[in-house]
Amino acid sequence: MASAKRERPNRKLPNEEPVALPETDDGTILFNVPFPKDLAQLKAMAPIILKQPYRIDYIHSYGQDSPFFAGLANGKLLGTVCTKCGYKYATPKLHCMDCGSECDWFELPQVGAVHTFTVCYFGSEEFLKETPFVLILVEWPGVDTLFLSRLIGVDPLSPSLEWVGMKVRAKFRRLSKFKPTDVYFVPA
Ligand SMILES: [Zn+2]
Repeated sequence: MASAKRERPNRKLPNEEPVALPETDDGTILFNVPFPKDLAQLKAMAPIILKQPYRIDYIHSYGQDSPFFAGLANGKLLGTVCTKCGYKYATPKLHCMDCGSECDWFELPQVGAVHTFTVCYFGSEEFLKETPFVLILVEWPGVDTLFLSRLIGVDPLSPSLEWVGMKVRAKFRRLSKFKPTDVYFVPA
């Protein structure tokens, strides 16, 4: 309905006393909240419990590890090598853990060998529905550290020590999530 005189916006103008905050329609609505006439009874009041959806945008930076994840998205497994002592890491490292010098990136072969494995019957919430699954540490000749990953294509319910030393090939998810799980291994 049109009104001849518009209401003034609810805000403080110069040289004016503060006005009330704007009232919105999105407050919490509770029904039947009892309130005693005798205030002495308030201490016995049951707590008011509210339920409401909660959502956050979680922003996480990979920082100087970013090239590793860009590699996974492009079907490449990247390791790092110390520019001074030559120590080779199967993981992203900006600086050498041994001598502290800067590291360079290099491409790891896509075929490695199982150094050891474990069958997981429990996991964090994200992986719980996939249990049991097999985790492996992958080794490469001339690379000084190991790479933790999933082994697919073996039966977790029939683990075998013959898996140790087995050649495995890296596979990459076509739809990258930019997570370490973008890569997994299968028997080569
Ligand atoms: Zn070094």
